Amino acid sequence: MSLHPNLQPLFDTVLRRNPGESEFHQAVHEVLHSLGAVVDKHPEFLALAAVERLCEPERQIIFRVPWVDDNGEVQINRAYRVEFNSALGPYKGGLRFHPTVSSGIIKFLGFEQTFKNALTGMPIGGGKGGSDFDPKGKSRLEIMRFCQSMMTELYRHIGEYTDVPAGDIGVGEEEIGFLFGQFKRITNRYEAGVLTGKGLGYGGSMVRTEATGFGTVFFVREMLKETNRTIEGKSVVVSGSGNVAVHAAQKAQELGATVIGVSDSSGFVHDPKGMDIALLKQVKLVEGERVGEYAKRRESARFEEGGNVWSIKTDVALPCATQNELNGESAQMLVGNGVRVVAEGANMPCTPEAVRIFRDNKVLFGPGKAANAGGVATSALEMQQNASRDSWDFDFTEHKLDEIMTGIHERCASAADEYGQPGDLVTGANIAGFVRVAEAMHSLGVV
Ligand code: GLU
Repeated sequence: MSLHPNLQPLFDTVLRRNPGESEFHQAVHEVLHSLGAVVDKHPEFLALAAVERLCEPERQIIFRVPWVDDNGEVQINRAYRVEFNSALGPYKGGLRFHPTVSSGIIKFLGFEQTFKNALTGMPIGGGKGGSDFDPKGKSRLEIMRFCQSMMTELYRHIGEYTDVPAGDIGVGEEEIGFLFGQFKRITNRYEAGVLTGKGLGYGGSMVRTEATGFGTVFFVREMLKETNRTIEGKSVVVSGSGNVAVHAAQKAQELGATVIGVSDSSGFVHDPKGMDIALLKQVKLVEGERVGEYAKRRESARFEEGGNVWSIKTDVALPCATQNELNGESAQMLVGNGVRVVAEGANMPCTPEAVRIFRDNKVLFGPGKAANAGGVATSALEMQQNASRDSWDFDFTEHKLDEIMTGIHERCASAADEYGQPGDLVTGANIAGFVRVAEAMHSLGVV
């Protein structure tokens, strides 16, 4: 797809500066594609190179993480922190521990994060980090030693007013605890607001664990409301069975939908009666088992090893696993089976071809930078609580999350309307996120 003539040269620069980083190219291209009308209306953004500056991270840190495994062998991993944009607030975004982590993956995630964070309306810039460390199969002590070694370098780059990491794939409450412990020890500061996703006992926020999944479902509810429909009675399929997927499934079911499928890398489970959420949580989040284990313990469920979860006929599809997990072929299958709503719980899980197919077939589509912003939004609520040395109860925090997700939907929908693309939440999210960051950059001058 061709870009606006003033934006194509910027994209060429991105290609030249970031060779081989296909996910980053994909994320940038998708955003630039939405911005043609905006730069026509606001030539000042081009004059100040706001778009070009937005595509170039403010700072990129790459470092070695040496650690000793349980056999006494020295292991080396590579870690990253990409501080993408701080026009709206301190860099904010998760850390991902997964063997696929590379400079390009972290850059794409940091780029998306900048827009996502802007859409929340909260005072947070965008960043992302992580390591190619694979926590799978590692002991608790190995994970602790890795986290401590990583923080021994990372601490000098982060801070409550500078850069506030959190979790992502492979980084949950346990890892955040180890990272925070080492930060506290090295700096001799109990700076709770330096990391989010902390445990409830030492500065964490209620609802943070559930927030991304819950938020995605609140967003879907708003998408349906816009077209005078409700989520009640709809069938829902969720890919992935990590934190995001499980809590999306929980909230969907609480709001009256029936969740009939989940997956992981081993295959999928089809449970037409509706998932037993407590059992799903037990199998996936407590025991860390494969989804096949769920089917063994539930009569109404069938496990299909290696199968494609998107072959299940459903009203609502929530890809909550990882980038580019849902391709054109799967999108075709979903459309053929009459899917009505797709919302991205993960970051960029749908390929550009899949998004095009949904759009061509008038499927309501909620892009990740809007639909999964509930996690980072609740991180910002955690920062607020830390700054005021307060802690809020579950219902109050969930209500705030709900309001934020409703606000994000509203911002996306009205930007889409304003730029003549009613109902196109991809365009709306890209424009609304961009305009908020670009206006702040405009105010701050060329820095
Ligand atoms: N990793 C999450 C995301 O992709 C959350 C980041 C955060 O809480 O800072 O948005």
